[in-house]
Amino acid sequence: MSLTVLMNAGPWLSVPPPGYGGIENVVATLVPELRRLGVRVVLATVDSSSLPVDEKFSVFQDGQFHALQRPYNQVCGISQAHLNGVVRLLHSRDDIDLVHDHVEAVGLATLAAMGPDAPPALHTLHWDLAKHPALYGNLDGGDRVRVNGVSAAQLARAPQALRDHSVGHVHLSTPLAVDAHRRPPVDKGDYVIILGRINPGKGQDLGARLARRVGVPLVLAGPVGPYHRPEDLAAAGDEARQNPDVRFFHDEVAPHVDGDLVRWVGTVAGQERDDLLAGARASLFPLRWEEPGGTAVVESLAVGTPVVATARGCLPELIEHGRTGLLTTDEDELGDLLLAASVLEPGECRHEAAARFTPAMMAQRYVQLYDRVRQLTAAR
Ligand code: UDP
Repeated sequence: MSLTVLMNAGPWLSVPPPGYGGIENVVATLVPELRRLGVRVVLATVDSSSLPVDEKFSVFQDGQFHALQRPYNQVCGISQAHLNGVVRLLHSRDDIDLVHDHVEAVGLATLAAMGPDAPPALHTLHWDLAKHPALYGNLDGGDRVRVNGVSAAQLARAPQALRDHSVGHVHLSTPLAVDAHRRPPVDKGDYVIILGRINPGKGQDLGARLARRVGVPLVLAGPVGPYHRPEDLAAAGDEARQNPDVRFFHDEVAPHVDGDLVRWVGTVAGQERDDLLAGARASLFPLRWEEPGGTAVVESLAVGTPVVATARGCLPELIEHGRTGLLTTDEDELGDLLLAASVLEPGECRHEAAARFTPAMMAQRYVQLYDRVRQLTAAR
């Protein structure tokens, strides 16, 4: 296949990410499979990214994640500086067949405004869109730009302008799913885990309260705003509280963290992350938002850890209640489900991941969508 794709992963973290990194993990999972299928990939990222690609483009030397505690307009300014570089690159060459963009809102708007000479673009939506319709502005005139969701539930909630430009959804994936059904079972610990950035939508405060109520040890793994380690957060001054996730942690989560029954271990990465996830008796998602794609849900299945979650967003699409997890719409019932999760079979979870969420499946689906987007543009 002769197709050159400019994959825009944005300026926030290197690819693959050092630990936490939603979009960057998706790109790191997708790109090797696309290249195996013969797609040439130009990656727009930061210079410190180490993912093998055909060509790399960057505006910033290192990931700008540390700047996320700054005011919103400055955060957008960083995205915009990166995007301006991408736009200059696109204007300067004619060998890019398609842009696959992952930079929320700013990326979509910039591509939509680029004019008819720009290549067609597919923008992957990564967030819950019902809450932020204004961020997506007006896509009129942006008919070269199509979008895809990461779940059917996410698209169903998206503003009409985005649904009008949608070419479908592609579930997230993980390299852990490859041959997951063949891997030997892992001994389970007595704890449950919440893996993900600490944020009101992810509901770590609720999880901590439930774990204490039913007496199950809970490990919270993930960054608090830009802080990856408990000692870094402890050393940060009062200005760290400008970040809403830092405020949420201090006010709502930390009062339940006793270092014994409920622990916050900071960001976990690599083998340590996989072992911690595989050793948990359940993976808990006490969601307060409509989880759009749930990489951590898929990762959990792949290592044989059943999911206990509020039935929100993509969870009912990814989890089969009673087989790979337990879902409820009642927050209080979640605590009881935590106790019941040990009846679920880890092997069923691993089979599900191997059957539905491999990187090769995700890449094949994206290649279909790239064709579709190019056909739609050519037909105009
Ligand atoms: N993650 C990680 N270490 C952590 C917390 C998260 O490696 O301590 C990874 C997690 O495994 C997943 C990604 O970061 O691959 C987070 O993706 P998810 O979809 O769960 O969250 P979101 O994109 O909403 O932040």
